[in-house]
Amino acid sequence: MNLITDAWIPVRRKSGKVNRIAPWQITEGEGEDVITVLAAPRPDFNGALIQFLIGLLQTTFAPKNPREWRKWFQQPPGTEELREAFEPIVYAFDLDGEGPRFMQETDLKNSKKAKIQPITYLLIDAPTDNTIKDNIDLFVKRTSQTKTDDGVIFCLPCAAAALFTMQTFAPSGGGGGGGKFTSLRGGGPLSTIVVENTLWKTLWLNVMEMSYFSSNKNYPIEHTFPWLQPGKFIRSKKGRAITSEEMDPLHVYWGMPRRVFFDIKCGEIEKQCFVCGCMTNKYSGNYKDLTMGISYFAGSGKNKKPSWVYPLHPLSPYFIDKDGTPTAIHPQPGGIGYRHWLGLIQSDQGNKGKRQPASVVEHFILERRRDLRLWAFGYDMDNMKARCWYDSTMPLVLADDSIRKSYEFHTAALVNGAQYVSRQTRAQIKKTFFKQVTDVKGDLSFVESRFWQETEGDFFAYLSKLRDALNRSDDVVPILKEWHKRLASMAETIFNDVSQTGAFDAADPKRIALAWRDLQKSIYSKKLREQLGLPARSR
Ligand SMILES: [Zn+2]
Repeated sequence: MNLITDAWIPVRRKSGKVNRIAPWQITEGEGEDVITVLAAPRPDFNGALIQFLIGLLQTTFAPKNPREWRKWFQQPPGTEELREAFEPIVYAFDLDGEGPRFMQETDLKNSKKAKIQPITYLLIDAPTDNTIKDNIDLFVKRTSQTKTDDGVIFCLPCAAAALFTMQTFAPSGGGGGGGKFTSLRGGGPLSTIVVENTLWKTLWLNVMEMSYFSSNKNYPIEHTFPWLQPGKFIRSKKGRAITSEEMDPLHVYWGMPRRVFFDIKCGEIEKQCFVCGCMTNKYSGNYKDLTMGISYFAGSGKNKKPSWVYPLHPLSPYFIDKDGTPTAIHPQPGGIGYRHWLGLIQSDQGNKGKRQPASVVEHFILERRRDLRLWAFGYDMDNMKARCWYDSTMPLVLADDSIRKSYEFHTAALVNGAQYVSRQTRAQIKKTFFKQVTDVKGDLSFVESRFWQETEGDFFAYLSKLRDALNRSDDVVPILKEWHKRLASMAETIFNDVSQTGAFDAADPKRIALAWRDLQKSIYSKKLREQLGLPARSR
């Protein structure tokens, strides 16, 4: 199977019809037949496949200048045009066969050191030897597959998607033992994609102009696709990492931290794919792997640092520390929402460094500004264990150049104000239930999660109001006041709900009254009013 010429990517059309296409068919179909979104059987596959297609366009079809970008945005290229553009690299995208295989290491075929692993170990959240042993595969549907010969198989499209997902989001270790490297952006990086109403527009909005990947060197092709000559890049010594100077800048889309080689069978009897449920006689039930692939991080322990520093992955937000080292941001427990507006959509300078949005988002805000949606997703990893896959979209409410500075200033104040109130709510609820505030074991993170979730809709409504007011040069204070009121009433509602549910023992009325008083003090404090940009209260 070839990942450019064969149909393997599941898509949904406007009519709702789902089928598999080859990458050059992304612009196929009109009217009801137009392709709107990806339709993989797993959400992490969707998150990876969108990056596969963006990476493919970026590598072969990048616009030379803003005019060319606009041309293709308004009038998508035909399928023949795309087929021609992809043609020169088709040979690097074979999933099977005797030659180099896409994102695999052919030498493992005859390696005695390589281990045979069940195919499900390629899924990032799959229970593996360690998780089954420690009984921590709680949120994963446990498969029966613990051996390699019990008949669980992946069809080739699912095997390809699983492989690309693993190489793109790889956690450390996992999948049959430690000693394996994380992805170029670390384990389970957060990615953000600007979304439009057709697949082509979504893809194209996230493709950067050629100059973003400029380099003064002419790299051989294996410096983009290392599987064409993996021996050149795989390090046998721990801590010796690939640097971005050694590779073509476009390699940022084709990282290969893991050493994998599929065992592909062509049987007489059809079997059912474990992931998508299709029946097929060409499949993979296991693969070979080995520790120590291509490393994108130098040093170890506290001194571990990303060795890939240029270009930043265009789809990920980064934290730039004081020394200028960029680290891709990773999802944290609690999900992704407007609490992350600073960092995902607007940059944020803190004491320890700067959080900055993905390059495609920054570029979109500066050059292509329209109100669209941002799709943010990634794995919350605890080392080699996947705690959760987060996946959400939020509105992009963007302002014109003329008012952007003050719009961003006030937006930051709205988010920071909410941050302050959510923390106060949690802190006061904690006081209600526990004598020693310092040694509380109860998990109150649900308080903050509820706070953010229930104010999210209003936040975006207030952003629109704020923008309209700034556009008309109106006073924004009434909007800030309303937001303050909303935050305060949410804090009070949650406090009352929690303190009356009896979910915790021994909530004594006196303690509740004291905590309520302190909550009132903080949500109507001078500190919060200042944070929101409200004038001092007139007496
Ligand atoms: Zn399948």
